[in-house]
Amino acid sequence: MRSPVQQYLEAIVEQCAGTDGEVAGYIPELAAADPDQFALALATVDGHVYEVGDIGARYSIQSISKPFTYALALADQGRKAVAEKVDVEPSGEAFNEISLASGTGRPRNPMINAGAITTASLVAGADAEERFRRVRAWYSDFAGRELGFDEAVYASELATAHRNRAIAHLLREFGILRGDPEPTLDQYIRQCSVAVDTRDLALMAATLANGGVQPRSGRRVLPATDVEQVLSVMATCGMYDAAGDWLSTVGMPAKSGVSGGIIAILPGQAGLAVFSPRLDAHGNSARGVAVCERMSRDMEMHLMHVG
Ligand code: GLU
Repeated sequence: MRSPVQQYLEAIVEQCAGTDGEVAGYIPELAAADPDQFALALATVDGHVYEVGDIGARYSIQSISKPFTYALALADQGRKAVAEKVDVEPSGEAFNEISLASGTGRPRNPMINAGAITTASLVAGADAEERFRRVRAWYSDFAGRELGFDEAVYASELATAHRNRAIAHLLREFGILRGDPEPTLDQYIRQCSVAVDTRDLALMAATLANGGVQPRSGRRVLPATDVEQVLSVMATCGMYDAAGDWLSTVGMPAKSGVSGGIIAILPGQAGLAVFSPRLDAHGNSARGVAVCERMSRDMEMHLMHVG
């Protein structure tokens, strides 16, 4: 007998399956994704995972990597050192906007590409290769299993990374990045190419919901004070240039990625992940947004909800 929660989640997926959108085309390999894949997972802080739809589908994590690399930079360098290089102000601009503070070149926040390339450089390690090894191991600790890597997406993105390359070089020009920016750009593209499924993402989100302790392994991955910082930045900057609209309609810290994933966090309770490659005009998964709006309303998940 399926639990009421399971039945509810299945009904939501069925009801939101008609929501339309376009698969991202600017990374050639992403354009090849099956547009009709649709998966939803809800992981509770006590480690139970509800799953619906194409739960076995694997895809590159893309920008959902950003809050986790930011978390690692915080854990490695401390909040003050990270803040010297990356601000925490919503930019209101698209994720790939060349959005740097005039004068200092400091990126507006760690959720846009300029900020994410910078936080990648702040991960401790002898070189970009070691930094990436640590990043992947770190994401794996959140997911509770060793995550794979999508070589095809990596190669495709590296070959077409003109804009991110320009951003990296501009960051170098402002002294935000030091040395050759190319290895850091490569490291950033690698982090976007880490392969996940929707269950992994739900557990990564649930680790944040659980104050930094992975719900299934019981291992503390991130100090609680850093979790608070990461969730705050996700709440204000996590959904591209739709962050304000998201916060008022859904009301949870979240992050989306161009491959079609969204994670949302209900602090103290659960992590939610949705995957559907069809994107809306802001670059957020169209069905993912529809699911989260419905769940927020039905289950009173909005953090500002006062009854
Ligand atoms: N790797 C992608 C880029 O930097 C990530 C974009 C995203 O998911 O928003 O263009």
